[in-house]
Amino acid sequence: MSINKENNLLNKKIVYDLTSFSHLDYPNHLSCIVWIVGCGFRCDYCYNSDIVFTKSGKYSFNDILSFLDTRINLLDAIVLSGGEATGVDLIPFCKQVKKKGFKIKLDTNGVNFEQIKKLLELKLLDYIALDYKAPKYKFTNITHSSLLKFDQFEQTLIYLINNNFDFEVRTTVHSDLLNENDINFIINYLYNKEYKGIYYLQNYFDSNNTIGNISKQQYQLNINQINTEKIKIQYRNF
Ligand code: SF4
Repeated sequence: MSINKENNLLNKKIVYDLTSFSHLDYPNHLSCIVWIVGCGFRCDYCYNSDIVFTKSGKYSFNDILSFLDTRINLLDAIVLSGGEATGVDLIPFCKQVKKKGFKIKLDTNGVNFEQIKKLLELKLLDYIALDYKAPKYKFTNITHSSLLKFDQFEQTLIYLINNNFDFEVRTTVHSDLLNENDINFIINYLYNKEYKGIYYLQNYFDSNNTIGNISKQQYQLNINQINTEKIKIQYRNF
């Protein structure tokens, strides 16, 4: 990328907002969260619709870099979230973040495989939280995106497994959309691909601002019916 293009990218207001401190989002790290605008998915339960639909935000990457200068020795990491953070070229920004000595966690739906691979090859990421939205047979129904996107997600997942990268797989559960059989299907899939990490099941929490027309959960996923023998499972908000 030319210097001009890189500067334009770093100056563009593509950061919807900044959470200046979190001790939860990146386990064992004190981080800030950078919320990047835009996403190609339209998950029914998504409550970040403002971030997903807007094209510009409050801050540029350069603004975030200036903020990080004030947090050296106070924070040790940043989390790139969204929206879908890989919808923009993260490489120039991540290079600068690394120069300042911060670790980088990426939250992603995994569809931009080429960029994730490049980020890893350049050693610009330290941890990834990868959303496994749904089994392939329900993927389009839940994300309102094409099955090609599932194939790209799958490519990312397999690449991360094969390269022993430090990452977690997680699924948001709304029981109108995913039932116990679907979750057990994902568990079998991960087991067969030799995923060794923890699989996090995140219970949907009610929001009045979802992208899809989705109501309160009629019932809670019955965690007693989840197969816990094949891979490690942890529950969030259950
Ligand atoms: S929940 Fe779905 S629509 Fe919302 S930001 Fe994540 S991937 Fe995009």
